[in-house]
Amino acid sequence: MPAGQRILIIGGGHNGLVAAFYLAKCGYKPLVLERREIVGGAAVTEEFHPGFRASTLAHTVGPLRLDVARDMRVEKFGCELIYPDPRVFAPAPDGRAALLYDNHRKTEASIARLSTKDAEKYQQFADALGEACVLLMPLLAMTPPSIDKPSTEDLWSLFKVGRDFRSLGKRRMFNLLRWGPMAVADFVAEFFETELLRATIAARGIFGTALGPWSAGSTAVLLLRAAADPHPVGCASFPRGGLGALTHALAESARSAGAEIRVNAEVAQIRVKDGRATGVVLADGEEIAADAVVSGADPKRTFLGLMDPGQFDPTFVMRIRNLRASRQTASGGRSPGGSTSGRTLTISNGPSTRRSMESFRRRRTWTSRFPR
Ligand SMILES: Cc1cc2nc3c(=O)[nH]c(=O)nc-3n(C[C@H](O)[C@H](O)[C@H](O)COP(=O)(O)OP(=O)(O)OC[C@H]3O[C@@H](n4cnc5c(N)ncnc54)[C@H](O)[C@@H]3O)c2cc1C
Repeated sequence: MPAGQRILIIGGGHNGLVAAFYLAKCGYKPLVLERREIVGGAAVTEEFHPGFRASTLAHTVGPLRLDVARDMRVEKFGCELIYPDPRVFAPAPDGRAALLYDNHRKTEASIARLSTKDAEKYQQFADALGEACVLLMPLLAMTPPSIDKPSTEDLWSLFKVGRDFRSLGKRRMFNLLRWGPMAVADFVAEFFETELLRATIAARGIFGTALGPWSAGSTAVLLLRAAADPHPVGCASFPRGGLGALTHALAESARSAGAEIRVNAEVAQIRVKDGRATGVVLADGEEIAADAVVSGADPKRTFLGLMDPGQFDPTFVMRIRNLRASRQTASGGRSPGGSTSGRTLTISNGPSTRRSMESFRRRRTWTSRFPR
């Protein structure tokens, strides 16, 4: 596609904003159309009660690719990322706790209080993740190849992955192939004996998925997350000001690169002619022509809601219909000063708050065994 062409991006979530930035950098004219009054999608900071602002859905920055953060200069645009150390504090009901720091030696000293065997294995585990990361990290940045008609570039990229895989050597190649389909509970059990440590490290294999620790393939999730950050528990970073500070910085960076962003602009339809997207129609009837359309909305909404499914191959439509997407999401709530994994709490001394905190505590009490 020649530079200078108009590209519409549906949705101002973080993916839409990053796409707008890179397209503008390549000389295109991206226009982001966001239906809400703010950009950020699920990564926003909002006032949920007068005087109280919080990240209302996503709470921590997941694996943010450092090259993207660097290219978009998020700090220059007002996003200060806070990296806690220790990275994870995992308390057990019996009063013991695991503390996992940036520094592996410090972590080993903490784990030794639970099990000297596990402390000795920790570095071995970190090395295994590091090796997997070297192989998997390039996959995160690679454009997925066309399965039916791979281009020369696709074949070249796949060749490089194959070459890197072979360079791992027989034992590591075998391990990687064996680990991927495994349940993450089995994977961590190959290294550690303490349930608390196993659960703490395995959590990354199920976080944000509909999987449990005994689900087949949950190790692949952990390995893919490790590709973005090979530390055994990954990293949770928090933007000062909530997730909205990050997406605000992404939007400002995209704008400064030349992208346009419109809010309160809901796309009702994607126009298609001769098999090519030619523009969109907004909910208020406005039509905007374009040379290409990028959708940051989910595939079901894009292909079944914004487009006429009749124009696609029925097999493709069936596959999109069969994508499993749970329809309920809850976050936010009432009641002490901050947020904990998906719940937003504000300080109040009322009895109803104490009651709700007690019921919250009971629901979150963690048992040190994986449910089978
Ligand atoms: C409950 C929950 C908690 C999560 N917690 C975390 C977390 O703590 N850390 C983390 O890293 N990830 C978390 N995630 C995952 C993360 O939120 C998503 O991966 C991320 O939001 C995806 O970004 P996106 O830009 O692809 O889509 P979205 O953020 O969904 O953005 C899509 C945008 O498109 C807009 N849009 C949709 N349809 C239209 C239309 N027709 N016209 C115009 N605009 C439209 C929407 O308004 C939205 O702004 C969580 C997800 C959920 C559901």
